[in-house]
Amino acid sequence: MNRSRQPCVRCESEPPKTDTSYTLIEHGWRLTVASDTEDRKKVELWCPSCWAAHHETGAQALPTGQASHR
Ligand SMILES: [Zn+2]
Repeated sequence: MNRSRQPCVRCESEPPKTDTSYTLIEHGWRLTVASDTEDRKKVELWCPSCWAAHHETGAQALPTGQASHR
């Protein structure tokens, strides 16, 4: 597989240049699999900060760009 890199699903920042997704994971990035509206599987990429925020808020995803209101 040699697909182009996708950005973070939430903040759209570009991941670091890596050869494999395993290297991304070492950088703190995470891959998740979600189903789209047509029930097709798609991979979502999370940068370290968005992944941390995602876990702080539980399963509920905040809209892109919304700041923490703590
Ligand atoms: Zn992000």
